[in-house]
Amino acid sequence: MLTPGKAKLDAVFISDLHLHPDNALITERFNRFVDWAAAEASTVYILGDFFHVWPGDDALDEWSSAIAARLAWLSQQGVTLYFMQGNRDFLLGKRFADLANMTLLAEPALMQLGETSVLLVHGDRYCTKDRAHQSLRKLTRNRWFPRLFLAIPLILRNKLVAGVRKRSQAKTYNAVSMDVVPEVLLQHMLDCQVTTLIHGHTHRQGVTTYEHEGQTYARYVLSDWDDNPKILCYDKSKGLYFVQMSL
Ligand code: MN
Repeated sequence: MLTPGKAKLDAVFISDLHLHPDNALITERFNRFVDWAAAEASTVYILGDFFHVWPGDDALDEWSSAIAARLAWLSQQGVTLYFMQGNRDFLLGKRFADLANMTLLAEPALMQLGETSVLLVHGDRYCTKDRAHQSLRKLTRNRWFPRLFLAIPLILRNKLVAGVRKRSQAKTYNAVSMDVVPEVLLQHMLDCQVTTLIHGHTHRQGVTTYEHEGQTYARYVLSDWDDNPKILCYDKSKGLYFVQMSL
C-alpha cells in the first residue's frame, strides 16, 4: 500500500516479459509488478517484447484482455503508461493501447529525466550482425507491412507467428552475433545528442559506459523476466538504478 507522504519513483522501465498464455509464472509476476508499480511509480515505460507473440489487436482474447485490464487498472491508480513496440509485439496497436490506457511511443523515442535527455529504443536495431533479423526488421517495420499483414486471416497469422517463434527459440541469446554492436549504438547516441540510452531485447541486464572524445556515454540494458527481474528505476535524488524484484 502507498505510504502517505512517501515520494513515488518518477519512472520505471521494463521490457522483455515475453508474456504468453502458456507461461503462468510470468503472468503472475506481471500481476505482482502491477500491484508494486501502483504503490511505487508515477510512470511506467514498457520498451517492447511485452508479449512473446502478438499477431495483431484482433487477436485479443480472454487472457490478453485481462492483461489490458490490469494495465488500465494501473493507469486508474494515477500511473502514466507508455508502450514501445519490440520485435515480437510490433503489431500491438491503438486498440490494445486504448484498452490498456497507455500511450504508444514511436521507436526510437527521446525523453527527459530531470536535466538528462534519454534515448529509448527496444534494442534490436543495434544487433546489426544478426542479418536475418535485420532483414525481417526492415520488412516488418515498413510503413505498409502492418496493414498488409493484418489483412491475412487471423488463423493463418497465428500459424506464421508461431513459425517465427519456433525458429527464434532455436537461436541462443548468448551468441555473439545476437548482441548489439557498440559502434552502432554509440553513433545513434551521437546522432540523437544524448549521453544516456535505455534498451531491452538482448536480455543482458546491466550498465555499460563508453568513453568518446572526453565524454562518457551510459547504456542501461533491461532484464528479462525469466528469473528475478531487475527493474530500472529513476528518481530525481538517486538517478537511474536497478532494483531486484522478488516477484
Ligand atoms: Mn526483442
